[in-house]
Amino acid sequence: MALFKKKKDYIRISPNRNQPTNHEPTVPDNMWAKCPSCKHILYTKEMGVEKVCPNCGYNFRIRAWERLALVIDSQSFEEWNESLATEDPLHFPGYLEKIAKAQEQTHLNEAVLTGKAMIDQQPLAIGIMDSHFIMGSMGTVVGEKITRLFERATSEKLPVVLFTASGGARMQEGIFSLMQMAKISAAVKRHSNEGLLYIAFLTDPTTGGVTASFAMEGDIILAEPQALIGFAGRRVIEQTIKQELPEDFQKAEFLLKHGFIDQIVPRLEIKTKLSELLRMHQKGAW
Ligand SMILES: [Zn+2]
Repeated sequence: MALFKKKKDYIRISPNRNQPTNHEPTVPDNMWAKCPSCKHILYTKEMGVEKVCPNCGYNFRIRAWERLALVIDSQSFEEWNESLATEDPLHFPGYLEKIAKAQEQTHLNEAVLTGKAMIDQQPLAIGIMDSHFIMGSMGTVVGEKITRLFERATSEKLPVVLFTASGGARMQEGIFSLMQMAKISAAVKRHSNEGLLYIAFLTDPTTGGVTASFAMEGDIILAEPQALIGFAGRRVIEQTIKQELPEDFQKAEFLLKHGFIDQIVPRLEIKTKLSELLRMHQKGAW
């Protein structure tokens, strides 16, 4: 049939988008996205600022500043420790250049944004990790910013809400990266000793040393739907125990079923849920 023989010029995309030819139409980057869950091709504007798949409700990964805007009262954010500078203790080749590039792309000094804000007029200390900054890996400055978040929250008697997203330790900082786990955990404990609330909110992906420390130390642990949450990677575990793992292993839903987390909260309901929990845990609320 003639229809099937027709040359499909209209769907060809230039192999090099920076140099379009006269014959090949180009599509701007980031205009379309494929939903990892339902596999639908989406026009990115359809996802809205919340970045939720309109077809299946999948929560796409989101940047720290975008998440902050969705969760807190507008104009209520005061940033803390935004000028702590990352150093290169191991003289790792290309590390500082990588940091500079990530800073430019994310408008963050490191892979976590911290500060004070309000949710429905209730003050809190808030931290948001960003997987777009070297996969949210935890180096010295990430560890120090989160530690200071808890310490300042302790002295100002504020609850902490911390959104985690991390590929694990920052390998370019070696042992200094691993030391952050104990340092943050100690600060979490001092915060807890004052009777203050800590809500850990696990987002996609929360893995490695972050899962092995402060992500699992929340008084209440929430997660986004289908978020990948685990310590070691799936393949490493399968090779170690010589068994095939269930399909949904390390997904938020699997963890909920097995008692690791308290509730799964879809992105559009996060602000309301946090507001409710903060109100319930105010001193003298009951
Ligand atoms: Zn979808």
